[in-house]
Amino acid sequence: MGMKPDEQCRAMVWLKERYQGCPHCGSKGGAMADLIALPILDSTAGDDLSTEIHPSAVVLPVACKKCGFMMLFNAKTLLNPEAKEGA
Ligand SMILES: [Zn+2]
Repeated sequence: MGMKPDEQCRAMVWLKERYQGCPHCGSKGGAMADLIALPILDSTAGDDLSTEIHPSAVVLPVACKKCGFMMLFNAKTLLNPEAKEGA
């Protein structure tokens, strides 16, 4: 699942302003990957958490270039220009 060029640009700006570096090794180098949709499991549906999969949360992975540690950022927050800090 790719991003449109304007979405890539907005995501880059968002990350450039806020990215603090890798929490694992401290390296400042990170690389964006393609958007990923994570399934949301319904724990109220039964004993097996994997039986009910609902619409997913879309996240933007950023991988540390040095150690490979991967951080997931909520794509809605990155790509929504209406989003406000602390809201
Ligand atoms: Zn790292």
